Amino acid sequence: MATITLDNLAHSYLPDPKTPEDFALKELNHDWADGEAYALLGSSGCGKSTLLNIISGLLIPSQGRVLFDGRDVTTAPTADRNIAQVFQFPVVYDTMTVRENLAFPLRNRGMEAEEIARRVGRVGTMIGMEAELDRKARGLTADAKQKISLGRGMVREDVNALLFDEPLTVIDPHMKWELRTQLKKLHRDFGHTMIYVTHDQTEALTFADKVVVMYDGRVVQIGTPQELFERPAHTFVGYFIGSPGMNLFDATLDGRQARIGDATVDLGAAFRHRGPVQVGVRPEFIRLATGGEGIPARLRRVEDVGRHKIVRLNVGGTEVSAIADEGEAIPADTDRIRFAPGAVNVYADAWRLTPEGGDAR
Ligand code: ADP
Ligand code: MG
Repeated sequence: MATITLDNLAHSYLPDPKTPEDFALKELNHDWADGEAYALLGSSGCGKSTLLNIISGLLIPSQGRVLFDGRDVTTAPTADRNIAQVFQFPVVYDTMTVRENLAFPLRNRGMEAEEIARRVGRVGTMIGMEAELDRKARGLTADAKQKISLGRGMVREDVNALLFDEPLTVIDPHMKWELRTQLKKLHRDFGHTMIYVTHDQTEALTFADKVVVMYDGRVVQIGTPQELFERPAHTFVGYFIGSPGMNLFDATLDGRQARIGDATVDLGAAFRHRGPVQVGVRPEFIRLATGGEGIPARLRRVEDVGRHKIVRLNVGGTEVSAIADEGEAIPADTDRIRFAPGAVNVYADAWRLTPEGGDAR
């Protein structure tokens, strides 16, 4: 196991990059702590695989260094990094049995037969294939082959890190949950440094203690699920995490107050910033009202989604979503929204502003 340090790292697939847009991965400094389980979350094309492949050595970065426990491995081949990587699509040997596939990474390292049998047995059970160990991989479903790939990644106990690149894409939904649970158990049992790439927020939030959110080649926030929910550092995090995502209101600031259209809203803390901002409020913290204080809003429709209702409103031409309890009545004459105290974030150029006096609210 190892702490993985990314020092001044950046990558472009172009031979002669010039502008920031030429970089698939923009400059990044980050430590992946030894033994921590991370999810790397972002939409397709934001640079997740690029970053993972640099860590594993499949790709040499155009700038910066990769260190394992302080040792520079930037140009070291994958084999020298002692890493297990699982890809989105299965990598298995068709002519071998499931058992032989799982044993392969261990046999390769000259491990004793007894120890190999023990580990293959353990992993075979974790991926739910204990009954199929002696079947040839050829002829198995894509789903089963991916489970073998996953098992091959999990079978070594001495790795510096385990890297998963959207490993459950081809797995059916109920098996996804089971395998994710097994990966968490693996982390509890062995304490490997794990990086789990996904574009699915539910997967990220249920897998990891720390979620690293990427957007457009940048890491925009690293935090616990709660931090990402309560204090999105970037408007992308607010929008991408949550269902529906955070609402944004164009505003100007005056100390503790924000001016949104003709309405004035108390922010609960003062902000020092000139120029236009956006006030971000999650649907969970929008309250509906009729008359009185608040921002004028028009009710558009109510969607019943089981545990709660999603209320869609029109505020100054923009759609705003609110979440109401299942049993809560939504009056048809609703014409205002208010924000729950302390649930407001303020953004300038997409980045969150820190309130004066810090974030202690
Ligand atoms: P993700 O895994 O988040 O979907 P990638 O890291 O695969 O994103 O890709 C990031 C960006 O780099 C994308 O714009 C993609 O088109 C580009 N890219 C990825 N691989 C290559 C490659 N081998 N050559 C050129 N461009 C690439
Ligand atoms: Mg990818």
